[in-house]
Amino acid sequence: MKKRIVLLPGDGIGKEVMHSAKEVLTAIAEEYNHTFSFENHEIGGAAIDQYGTPLPETTVDACKQADAVLLGAVGGPKWDNNPSHLRPERGLLGIRKALDLYANLRPIKGFKNLLHASPLKEEIVSGSDLLIVRELTGGIYFGTPSERRDNGESVVDTLAYTRREIERIVDKAFQAAQGRRGKLTSVDKANVLESSKMWREIVEEKKAQYPEVSVEHVLVDAAAMKLITNPASFDVVVTENMFGDILSDEASVLTGSLGMLPSASLNESGVGLYEPVHGSAPDIAGKGLANPVAMILSAALMLRYSFELEDEAKIIEDAVQSVLDAGYHTADLQIPNGRQVGTEEMTKLIVDYIRTLNASKCIASCYY
Ligand code: NAD
Repeated sequence: MKKRIVLLPGDGIGKEVMHSAKEVLTAIAEEYNHTFSFENHEIGGAAIDQYGTPLPETTVDACKQADAVLLGAVGGPKWDNNPSHLRPERGLLGIRKALDLYANLRPIKGFKNLLHASPLKEEIVSGSDLLIVRELTGGIYFGTPSERRDNGESVVDTLAYTRREIERIVDKAFQAAQGRRGKLTSVDKANVLESSKMWREIVEEKKAQYPEVSVEHVLVDAAAMKLITNPASFDVVVTENMFGDILSDEASVLTGSLGMLPSASLNESGVGLYEPVHGSAPDIAGKGLANPVAMILSAALMLRYSFELEDEAKIIEDAVQSVLDAGYHTADLQIPNGRQVGTEEMTKLIVDYIRTLNASKCIASCYY
């Protein structure tokens, strides 16, 4: 398979973890006969320094022509006092908009060796492996009017969705559930909101197209409780923009480390932007301490959702799992009796696993 990948390392540890993702993808390409071409472009603070804007046209054009985009992270103290049009985050918001990314996917998985770092008891978080599918471009964050009225004495925000906007995110979630354990939880507030009633109707209509997926409807307040009392009961969760914003942050702390969490944002043509949930971590940038796993798992999501290379995605995820199982970890994690390594060594361990796995498969199929 031939694919063109745009890399936007951004700022701080973004550059370091992007290097790791590229090494892993290069190993996958070489071991499994794919051709991935990589093109680097600037975004965020690095783009402000070089081009005077957080999102140069050249970056947007390259992303629009790419098969997928990997993004590191943007921001840092150097640009904190810039005027708002020259803030690094403007680059991030701009590229999400330019690519029309309407679906945000956040997988959250409890790795066995790291469960002790969860704020929840190990027996509660154990077995958690869920995917939150959040609508990203509609709902109350974008509805108009959104304004102060009556000389500031009243205020209005608008929660608006079209049928089409709900259908496409619900379809995406059903499809994701088909590739996982076949359970979909649709989260809404249908006891109060008209938009939620329509959301629930659409999920019910769509159900017939995906008979192998079981569906449950949960109110958002109950979902927030269930996420901390029984997170392992979820497989795929689909919800509208604001509910998803809140629930995905709640869910992200379950596993105890920001350095482990990947994300994907997709548009209708399957092109996606893949990025770790964490930021540019200026406090550790340039020290070789960054945990590259969130970025590497984001690359795995790219293989799964943009390139439909499920086996290769799984190989990367297995590689991460097996390196952690062997006790290796970066400074942000603690594994009892484990061995702390830096960004480069962690990356090398993951790459070595991928290469060894393929070599052993070859030996098995060639000689036995
Ligand atoms: P952050 O995620 O960068 O860091 C929070 C803490 O987690 C820090 O102590 C950091 O060292 C640690 N951390 C984060 N990722 C890590 C990793 N991969 N390995 C090891 N440790 C890791 O959040 P912050 O400190 O609030 O923000 C720093 C900058 O990043 C700010 O400029 C902020 O605007 C920006 N930011 C960018 C994004 C993005 O690009 N998507 C997201 C969040 C924050």
